[in-house]
Amino acid sequence: MFKLVTIATKESEVFLRKKAKEVSDPGSITRAFVSEMKKTMIAANGIGLAANQIGEECKMFVAVHAGKFYTLINPEIIKSSAEEEEAEEGCLSVPMIYGPVKRAAKVIIQGTDMRGKVVKIKAVGLLARIFQHEIDHLNGKLFIDRAASLYRVDGEVKA
Ligand code: ZN
Repeated sequence: MFKLVTIATKESEVFLRKKAKEVSDPGSITRAFVSEMKKTMIAANGIGLAANQIGEECKMFVAVHAGKFYTLINPEIIKSSAEEEEAEEGCLSVPMIYGPVKRAAKVIIQGTDMRGKVVKIKAVGLLARIFQHEIDHLNGKLFIDRAASLYRVDGEVKA
């Protein structure tokens, strides 16, 4: 399992705010690495985890929604709906802080899968939100930059 990088220190926040590096060879992302990322995400009760959140600068993330796992390498949003939805978000890298974030209700993302194949995924609702949150991470952006307001919840950490 990996150790999560959080904004706890100035240094780690600077790291999280760096853009991740394009993966030139998708084959360099091993199944063992992806499996450890999934384990780390699940153990932390997360629904998405970008590689820079575990200290790797490569452009990839894992996510889970409705029992389905997603692993996307070099993901990009290629289309966003004009329609937006506001919902509460939290982040494994920003423990105990939550806030409402407006995001596109629907997106189409494109990336490469573990076999090096280009995939396009059309996502709505929570899955569209997860994808936007994770791609933000890879661009060095945190949800606290987008939230209309923030509040602290002491106790159980969930997102
Ligand atoms: Zn996050």
